Amino acid sequence: MIIANWKMNGSKVLIKDWIASVSMEIEVNKTKNCIFCPPTCYLDYAKSLIKQGSKDIKLASQEIDSELSSPLTGGISSEMLCDIGCEYVIIGHSEQRIHIKESNKILSDKLKESIDKNIKPIFCIGESIEQKKSNKTLDVLLEQLEAIKSDFINKCIIAYEPVWAIGTGENAEISYIEEIHSFIKEELIKKTNSKKYISVVYGGSVNLDNFREIYSSSMVDGLLIGGASLDSSTFTKIYNMS
Ligand code: PEP
Repeated sequence: MIIANWKMNGSKVLIKDWIASVSMEIEVNKTKNCIFCPPTCYLDYAKSLIKQGSKDIKLASQEIDSELSSPLTGGISSEMLCDIGCEYVIIGHSEQRIHIKESNKILSDKLKESIDKNIKPIFCIGESIEQKKSNKTLDVLLEQLEAIKSDFINKCIIAYEPVWAIGTGENAEISYIEEIHSFIKEELIKKTNSKKYISVVYGGSVNLDNFREIYSSSMVDGLLIGGASLDSSTFTKIYNMS
């Protein structure tokens, strides 16, 4: 799967152009989902454009709130996301972990909320540069993975996004990505006691120069792309050539 995370970028005009261009140019492959995450206020608009287009772009939200947080001014419920045809949701992105101080308890409630309504979570984990330098990466990842209850593991997509690689232009080396993805998969398999396949996608400064090497690894099940996904032609090239 190739995921475009627009973060807090875009406008109606930009979204309309992007969807028109991507719909026209992508060579849809049913085994490789094309997932678009616009800002929340544009989700319904994006869905209506996707419906008009012939191509299969799936819609993801960047936000969901748990029913347990209700009442919550500004909140987004799973029912609302279902209502507008959202199939995926990003949970635990490092920017939200940092700025909104999301705890494992909050994240666990959000995972439950989305899974209960059949909205597939893209659960982000990753270490900061300080944690990497002090050899704490694996401990940090294990602690973040604790938010996923064992019954939910096979229903989640994991996005490994080292915080130091997000938006910095400095992607992780392929050997490092493979080591970490393999660790995540092994740990989750241990937790489920099942051999069911667990998808782990990579995110962090993916661009036209590095996507091939990263995506071609058997340990990498997809790409989560921020900055480089804003340009429809770059995103389409990455989708078509990966
Ligand atoms: C992201 O925000 O999830 C991300 C991967 O961003 P970028 O590709 O810009 O590093």
